[in-house]
Amino acid sequence: MRATRAAAAAMLLALSGASGCALDAGADSGSITHRRSLAIGVKGDQPGLGLKGRDGRYQGFDVDVATYVAGRLGVPPGRITFRTTPSSQREDALRERDVDLVFATYSITAKRKTQVTFGGPYYVAHQDTLVRSGATGINAVRDLRGKRICAVNGSNSWRRVTDERKIAARPVPVPDYRACMTLLASGGIDAVSTDDLILAGFAAQTGGGVRLLNAPFTDEKYGVGLRKGDLAGCEAVNRALTEMYQDGTAGRLLKKWFATSGVSYTTSVPQFEGCS
Ligand code: GLU
Repeated sequence: MRATRAAAAAMLLALSGASGCALDAGADSGSITHRRSLAIGVKGDQPGLGLKGRDGRYQGFDVDVATYVAGRLGVPPGRITFRTTPSSQREDALRERDVDLVFATYSITAKRKTQVTFGGPYYVAHQDTLVRSGATGINAVRDLRGKRICAVNGSNSWRRVTDERKIAARPVPVPDYRACMTLLASGGIDAVSTDDLILAGFAAQTGGGVRLLNAPFTDEKYGVGLRKGDLAGCEAVNRALTEMYQDGTAGRLLKKWFATSGVSYTTSVPQFEGCS
């Protein structure tokens, strides 16, 4: 009898060990918690935020924040795969499991919340407007009436002008922000209106020829995109972001990427939205 009990106990132990593995595997498919590796969507064309170099490496504030958060989730840099995820592909990339997380100047909006669970925000940017330095008569968003503005597919920025502010600007569709800057330089558009951090990165790279209006008019809450419903993952991301502000990393990274860009940034911890 005693022997049978011991055998049963051993079997139970073995079973619980096995089910522990099974649980981990289950968590792998459903949540980003307990992952061995992570695929992370970032921008590839935005200096200071997410920029893919000739060597294939990504760098920028979003990349560094993503690396920090992944580390807190137990995934070291060597087991992160970064993937270029333009504005138009962020929701699909998460849904289709091309990426597990998105850190890509991804503003939390009511519409996007119906498709994506958002951690954070990890930063609150503000929409501003960039024009050619010689341009006259454009000093605030209202002056964009009748002007050709850059409309990056999947971005919220141009809609903030035309739909929310009801300013009758003329959106010119393009695939990404690099295309905006090329068009601005060539005279194909009159203005690029988007997040101040994005504009500051480009302005620093351009080194003249452009002028930032310094007339911010929105709050852009940069969220961490997770697959819809991964609430455990979202809570874990929020814990990591809280630590990132508490241990001084957030301030250090903001300084690293934006101190010389001319943009005024804040290092206080943003108000989290709550996971849903
Ligand atoms: N933050 C804005 C958005 O998510 C503009 C930048 C972007 O397209 O990534 O739409």
